[in-house]
Order: sequence, then C-alpha cells, then structure tokens
Amino acid sequence: MVREQHKRLTVLGATGSIGQSTLDIVRRNPNKFDVIALTAYSRVEELAALAIEFAAELAVIGDATLLPDLKAALSGTGIESHAGEAGLIEAAERETDVVMAAIVGAAGLRPTMAAVRQGVTVALANKECLVCAGDLLMDEVKMHGATLLPVDSEHNAIFQVFDFDRARGVEKVILTASGGPFRGRSRDSLLNVTPQQAVAHPNWDMGAKISVDSATMMNKGLEVIEAYHLFPVEKAQIDVLVHPQSVIHSMVEYADGSVLAQLGSPDMRTPIAYSLAWPERMHVPVKRLSLSEIGSLTFEEPDLDAFRCLHLAKEALMNGGSAPAILNASNEVAVEAFLAGRLRFVDIAAVVSDTLSACDIKAPQSLSNVFEIDKMARREAARWLGVRTQ
Ligand code: NDP
Ligand code: MG
Repeated sequence: MVREQHKRLTVLGATGSIGQSTLDIVRRNPNKFDVIALTAYSRVEELAALAIEFAAELAVIGDATLLPDLKAALSGTGIESHAGEAGLIEAAERETDVVMAAIVGAAGLRPTMAAVRQGVTVALANKECLVCAGDLLMDEVKMHGATLLPVDSEHNAIFQVFDFDRARGVEKVILTASGGPFRGRSRDSLLNVTPQQAVAHPNWDMGAKISVDSATMMNKGLEVIEAYHLFPVEKAQIDVLVHPQSVIHSMVEYADGSVLAQLGSPDMRTPIAYSLAWPERMHVPVKRLSLSEIGSLTFEEPDLDAFRCLHLAKEALMNGGSAPAILNASNEVAVEAFLAGRLRFVDIAAVVSDTLSACDIKAPQSLSNVFEIDKMARREAARWLGVRTQ
C-alpha cells in the first residue's frame, strides 16, 4: 500500500477563526498533514491544547509575558515553546511545506514575510499584509520562488477562475460583498450601533476585527487593494458588487463578455481546503450548495455614502505610496477603539480619513519603512482619539 504523502503545515494564528477552521480540516484528515508549528497571541491555554492535540514541534505565544504559562501547559510533552515576535518568526521559518498565514492585522507582516522567504507555499488569509506592504511582499514572493495562495474567499474565487496565461483577455475582476449587517441602512441610522450589532455578520462567522471591517465595508476596501497585488490587473479594473447571499464569491469578466464565477456555501473551510490541497482538491464536509433551495441571487451597487470606508480604501489605492498602509494602521486603531466602546461606529471612517490627510504618503522603500509609516499613522490616529473622544 502506498502511504499518502503528508504535507507539513504551520499555522500562524492557530487560535483564531481561520486557524481553527484550518485545524478542523487537519483533524478530519490525519493522514494528509503533519503539524509543525502553531502560534497565538494571548489564548495560551487554547494554544497549548492544540499543540498537544496535533503533536506540533513548536508552539509560540506572541505575548511574551505568557511564556511561563505556555511552558507550564506543555511541560512533559516534548513540545518546544517560544514567545514574542522573534518566536513568531521562528515558527514561520521552521522547515515545512505550507504556512497558513492567519494572524490578524499588520502584526502578521513580519512572520508572513519570513514564511515567504522560505520559498514554501503560503496560504494567505492575513490581507492586511498585502494592504500595507503589497509591492514588497510580492517582490519577495518572486525572489524566493514562494507560492502565494489566497485564502480570502473572494480572492480564492478569482484565483480559481482567472486565466493567468491569457491575462490580457481579462477586462474586470468583480469582488462580491455581502454588505454586512448594516446593508441598506443610511449613515444617520448608524450613529448609535453597538460593537455587538456590528460583529453579528449575517453570513460569515469571523474574528471581531474583520467582522467590524465587514460592517463598515472597510473589509471590501482592503480586499480591493489585496486583489490589485494578487492579480495582474490595473486598479480601475477592480469592481465591487453587493451580493447579500454570499453564494457567488467573486467573478472575472473577459473581453468577449464571458463572466466566470466561483460559487459555494459561505464556509471558509472551502477556500482553506483549496489552499491546503492545491493543486489537488480534497473533500470537505461543508453544506452543499443548493441553488433551488436559495431560489434567487440578488445584486446591488455599494452605498459609498453610508459606507465611506470603502470609498477611502479605493482612494488610498489610487493615491498609492504609503496611503494603503496609513489606511490600514488607522483603521486598526479605530476598530480597536470601537470594540472597546471608545469610538462611535461612524467615526471609524473619520479617524481613517483624518489620519490619511495628516500623514505624508511617500512610498515605503523597505519593510522597516513600512513599520515606521504604520507607527506614525497609529500615533496620529491615537492623537485623534485623544482629542476627539474626551
Ligand atoms: P481572529 O481574531 O479570529 O484570530 C486572529 C489570530 O491571530 C489569533 O490566533 C490571535 O491569537 C492571533 N493574533 C492576534 N493578534 C496578534 C499579534 N499581535 N501577534 C500575533 N498573533 C496575533 O481573526 P480571523 O481568524 O478572523 O482573521 C485572521 C486573518 O484572516 C485576518 O487578517 C482576516 O482579515 C483574514 N480573514 C479572515 C476571514 C474569516 O472568515 N475569519 C475571512 C477572510 C480573511 P489569540 O487568539 O491568542 O488572540
Ligand atoms: Mg473576504
């Protein structure tokens, strides 16, 4: 009997929504994967339990003050433990076949870059990496011969239907958006929405930050920038279409008028499994799509007045330079403040817009440059919060 080839897998952000969905697939396919390294930031007990369950070589906790807890939880297991950013980078550099990059925010940039520099397959969920350092990251992908597979459902859909050998025949990529929990609402009606309402997404079960991004539609804006870096298209060729059922995950329109789309139930395990099995396909027990049950699919244009963040992100892409990095950093600060009850929902866009106006948008030349810009934008956004939310 031929033994099935195991893929060695590292999961950065193992305790999060994407990390857990990834490990759910691994759990169901014990003959396909060997887990090498797992990371988290603060959920130390969960991390240790996963490391033990999957017999990982290494577990890394981002918050270095929690290293003693991790060591205690792993004592006697033989699993190595590390902490801090250096530890996260070490996890990304461990010899492996596939790295799932699922840390949230710009905090994932250095570890993701380290995985890319290994020249392995990087399944990329962490869209903020491409938003703040897209050109630099894609250069490194080419330089190190890494394979970058998009996990984000829209980009995974486009990846599946994009004719990379005849890219000149592509006229448009159309990113679909559910519209989030506040679709159809006016800007004025959103003044007093709570974090709890904002994270209650109608179709997808996701981490808190991306759920708020979906509610403001900043998520779709970040995805427009992500698409620009992932696919050989011009900025003006990327469109957004609201499609509340989240069945068509995105589309590519060709010169002859053909439109190719990828469809499926809204379950992240499909794009995750696609990335893990690529170039093969693997079985995943997601709900099968029943179009007759769904009945009708509907579409509408996004409301850029109520969802100003989408407009700001598109503008940042057009302006280029460090504008996307500033947009991302200020959005991270604003979303955190909103989740903590310190900022109104509608003011997330105000923080981002004012930070973009206050910062110089000269293009970053290096990764350390990106971090300087990120820091400057965070400082400026925090100053906004300090002055305006007293
Ligand atoms: P979660 O918040 O659920 O999980 C984030 C993960 O990153 C956790 O493991 C968390 O650890 C870890 N983490 C958080 N902060 C840090 C830090 N400063 N340093 C190191 N690790 C950190 O997020 P999601 O899984 O929802 O999202 C992950 C990424 O995937 C995001 O970029 C998101 O935009 C993208 N994505 C997510 C989708 C989804 O359906 N969830 C869909 C498409 C893209 P701990 O648990 O200890 O806090
Ligand atoms: Mg998405």
